[in-house]
Amino acid sequence: MENIQTVLDALGIQQLNNGVSTGKLHQSGNGGVLESFSPVDGKRIAQANQADRSDYDFVVQKALEAYQIWKQVPAPKRGEIVRQMGDQLRKFKIELGTLVSYEMGKSLQEGLGEVQEMIDICDFAVGLSRQLYGLTMHSERSQHRMYEQWHPIGIVGIISAFNFPVAVWSWNAMLAWVCGDVCIWKPSEKTPLTALACQNIIKTVLENNDVPEGVSCILTGGREAGEWLANDPRIALVSATGSTRMGKSVGEAVARRLGKSLLELGGNNAIIVTPSADLNVAVPGIVFGAVGTAGQRCTSTRRIIVQADIYEEVKRRLVKAYAQLRIGNPLDANIHVGPLIDKEAVLQYQLTVEKVKEAGGRFIVEPKVFNGDAFTSGCYVAPCVAEVLNKYPIVQHETFAPILYLIKYNELEEAITIQNDVPQGLSSAIFTLNIRESELFLSHAGSDCGIANVNIGTSGAEIGGAFGGEKETGGGRESGSDAWKVYMRRQTNTINYGTALPLAQGIKFEI
Ligand code: NAD
Repeated sequence: MENIQTVLDALGIQQLNNGVSTGKLHQSGNGGVLESFSPVDGKRIAQANQADRSDYDFVVQKALEAYQIWKQVPAPKRGEIVRQMGDQLRKFKIELGTLVSYEMGKSLQEGLGEVQEMIDICDFAVGLSRQLYGLTMHSERSQHRMYEQWHPIGIVGIISAFNFPVAVWSWNAMLAWVCGDVCIWKPSEKTPLTALACQNIIKTVLENNDVPEGVSCILTGGREAGEWLANDPRIALVSATGSTRMGKSVGEAVARRLGKSLLELGGNNAIIVTPSADLNVAVPGIVFGAVGTAGQRCTSTRRIIVQADIYEEVKRRLVKAYAQLRIGNPLDANIHVGPLIDKEAVLQYQLTVEKVKEAGGRFIVEPKVFNGDAFTSGCYVAPCVAEVLNKYPIVQHETFAPILYLIKYNELEEAITIQNDVPQGLSSAIFTLNIRESELFLSHAGSDCGIANVNIGTSGAEIGGAFGGEKETGGGRESGSDAWKVYMRRQTNTINYGTALPLAQGIKFEI
């Protein structure tokens, strides 16, 4: 890509070609390097130093020191600094969005959208910095007052996945910062450069405000670096986004030391299409959900559950829509579907296709791996659709690729049972114009997911709502609503302003 060097220069990444990392909190280089290759064209972009254990301990020490300062800053002032970070992100939106697209492989539109999401969460966090509300209660004792306060908790460790290489960090970090915490970010080893670019972007704001850089630390590395965070009692909260396999490991390690974890793990998201559905709305919603980000969103649509009377019509429209998809360089605005993250992901796509066939599934849109000049990275695959049964083991599993499963139902209750009958519980949707159907779907007898939508697809959440899911998705909630509470500790205060000492529950104690 010809202008990628300009983008790297603007984001301060050029130094990394020499193995030098970013900021004062640089990683020594003793831990070796992480090479970043673009799935777009297979070219090596740059390398980043990888942290070793002594770098880790250094970073934790710096974070602890910064916490002592940061927690003393009044929350609205912390919000003002986050506001400035939002402005910096606005300045670098095109460059950062382009690097996200090039390093991760999502379309430029989605790369820019991801940076916009970061800006949105900054705005949300600024408002939140004046709204960290606790409740006031009436005491059962006379001349007593009871209330609760929310205090910062310390260091938040953020482990993030490759598919939202920057937004997930900002969802956590911006809220954690207004809450008074400091952050150590362990980005995906597949996308280290976008993370270093973020650090470079916000570093100026920290410097301009005399805030120690330890408020925002980066720990580049792989699984082992994530394990350091999970096992370290100095890390008050570990917020981990990634596969269920990773979440089980992190959740167990943090629970062993009775720490706090926030887990955002895999999904197996379904859309129910009922006979009253407006198919002109439903079909684009399904296709975007299934092929957007090449099926590599945690909220990607994996299963379509269609009522028998409209099954053939939906099938016909899906086949027609898939025939129009353009696959190729995601930086080209005319392209719908970019590459998978790496060749390992292509292998998983191929293995899944084989398992679907072995189980008895039938492809109505055929899978394919692309070769040739336009696909030199070897990471491009065709979005495909298979008719399956929900009970196939492979259908129960999240494959991070654009493979859509088509399932038939007769009665809505049966569709809801199918929708819920997977280990994951992230996102779900129904397309219907029938209020009874939509209300049943949204009721306690309906979807068991953290996200349930009507007449929009499963992917593309807004930052204002709490984001996350149930069951093997991990139960965590991030971003909007009252998700901020996980980044703070609650303290209940009872104050006696009288001259006696009445005890709770009327207990008598006289001396
Ligand atoms: P992954 O689990 O392979 O890696 C995620 C992160 O965890 C990486 O930074 C990795 O280095 C780290 N890691 C891996 N094993 C670890 C361990 N044992 N201890 C500590 N850290 C460890 O996931 P991925 O391939 O990068 O991302 C895809 C997965 O992420 C999918 O399952 C997707 O559904 C999920 N995801 C979920 C959400 C959500 O909000 N629910 C959002 C994005 C992605």
